Amino acid sequence: MDWKSDADFADRFHEALGNGGIRAWFQPVFRSLTQQIMGAEALARWFDPDGNMLSPADFIPQLEQGGLIFELDMEILRQACALYDELRARGTPLSRVSVNLSRLDFAREDLFEQVCSVLHAYSVPREAVSLEITESVMLEDTDAFEKVFNRFSDAGFSVWLDDFGSGYSSLNVLQNYPFDVIKFDMLFLRKMSAKGKNMLASLISMAKTLGIHTLTEGVETNEQREFLLDIGCEAQQGFYYARPLSREALIEQIDRKPGILEKKEDEAYWGQIGRLNFVNPNPLKEYAERWKSSPADYVSSYDGSIALIECGRENFTYIYATEGYKERLRELGFSSVDGLENALTSHQRGHYYLAIHKLVMDALQQGTIQTVEYAYRDVYYRLSALFIARREGRAMILMRLNTFDAEREVKTAQEMLDNGSALFFTYEMVAMIRPEMKKAKRIYAASSLPSYDREESVDKTIRKFCENHVDPADQERYLQFANMETMGERIRNSPRKFIQAVFRMRLEKNQSNWYSARFTEVPSSSEPVYILTIQSVQENLNRWLNLFAEEHPEMF
Ligand code: C2E
Ligand code: MG
Ligand code: MG
Repeated sequence: MDWKSDADFADRFHEALGNGGIRAWFQPVFRSLTQQIMGAEALARWFDPDGNMLSPADFIPQLEQGGLIFELDMEILRQACALYDELRARGTPLSRVSVNLSRLDFAREDLFEQVCSVLHAYSVPREAVSLEITESVMLEDTDAFEKVFNRFSDAGFSVWLDDFGSGYSSLNVLQNYPFDVIKFDMLFLRKMSAKGKNMLASLISMAKTLGIHTLTEGVETNEQREFLLDIGCEAQQGFYYARPLSREALIEQIDRKPGILEKKEDEAYWGQIGRLNFVNPNPLKEYAERWKSSPADYVSSYDGSIALIECGRENFTYIYATEGYKERLRELGFSSVDGLENALTSHQRGHYYLAIHKLVMDALQQGTIQTVEYAYRDVYYRLSALFIARREGRAMILMRLNTFDAEREVKTAQEMLDNGSALFFTYEMVAMIRPEMKKAKRIYAASSLPSYDREESVDKTIRKFCENHVDPADQERYLQFANMETMGERIRNSPRKFIQAVFRMRLEKNQSNWYSARFTEVPSSSEPVYILTIQSVQENLNRWLNLFAEEHPEMF
């Protein structure tokens, strides 16, 4: 569009304002964790009389030069409020709208009153409007800006720092003003270089430390989307999700998928969860200490194994899990987090379900980090949980899953076993055997079995146990199975690093039943240590025999 003079330009602008040529387009903002729409940013478009669409770069500098930008910004704010009002009235409310303010707007004494009067006209609450301002604003007239900033902030508006990292970024700005959100410029994502990614990850971590929410603009690919999710960036905006849309097109999108809108009442819930720092060396500890009063000292090394689990009254849903967490779930035998969800919500409600359920309930009630250590398939795990946020009928729990550290000494294992975890109830008996020390110590027994740890050798202990409790038909096989001379070799050669077999035993009331016995080696640097577990298979014989057949096809 050409114009002859500044006066001509101003005339055409006013003409466009009068005849609907200035229109707000709306680009939705998405929550990384849920892929729901948290709000929309209003962006100015100018349609000339021929119907050509002009972008802000084509006219904003001239509007600023001509002292007209305030009129544009108020018009876009009006249209944003009108959209908010319309969506609310038709029962598909949008949580918030954001508008851009020019640095020149801040030179106006009446900016605050003018903005408020527009909101008032459409009955839009202040909490629903975000004001995006770029850093250059703060470099100009600091005192005046500070006054206006504080008025908006104190009145309940959310003030966002736009285009962070694009130009004159100064970290001081973050120190001086209580911004609610930093919008990271799309420049960080452009190349997806290691440097750019690391910078963005660090800046997002820093923002969380300062208590500022994070949004990244210019998301164009799925790779970028996933990266932002993994570094804990809370919100995303960009062509990958949606281009800026006309009011009509946005409404059409919403009508096609009404569930895509985040509910306003859930905003605080997700906002609290968004404070979690995914890339912190110890996110649970950091969260607990920063946002709650500090719990007892919890020391553990970072392994990136965390997940967010949302608990309803009847079920658990994984909202997010890191690769490290998924890897450990695979070690536990769940092919995916979905597999675990199914196991957790299944009607069987086994020991595993009960153990996690108790952990989660404790975390909810105590508000501090809850930890359980337990055995599953004879591998030892530590699961920690921390309550993060709550909403109607649901609560978010941060979980951390650690496998037992290979370097952990026997002593630690012994301590853990001595303390006894609830999961021992899944066993009839648990014993620790240290052949070199000639020690076989019973750690847990469900019934009143005599203990055999006073014998002078491990072999004798095993033989005594065998004579007294293993069915005569299975005794020879049991002695071979429990042979300490070949134990280490057999375990190391087994694909799953334990050996297992089923035997008929008499552990209660002289009645013979099927039991599964398993030897697992405890990782230890000094001497071989084995854990023997004996578990009843009678209750669910078919399940165990299938497993047995899988492990010992030669027996069938
Ligand atoms: P902004 O506020 O940072 O807005 C984001 C800009 O990035 C928009 O450009 C948007 O269309 C574009 N964008 C969004 N996603 C992507 C993406 O995935 N890839 C790429 N390449 N671009 C993407 P737009 O609409 O041209 O606006 C440019 C700038 O003009 C805005 O940057 C804002 O600073 C300014 N502006 C827009 N509307 C207004 C307004 O009403 N008032 C004032 N004062 N400034 C405005
Ligand atoms: Mg903006
Ligand atoms: Mg921007």
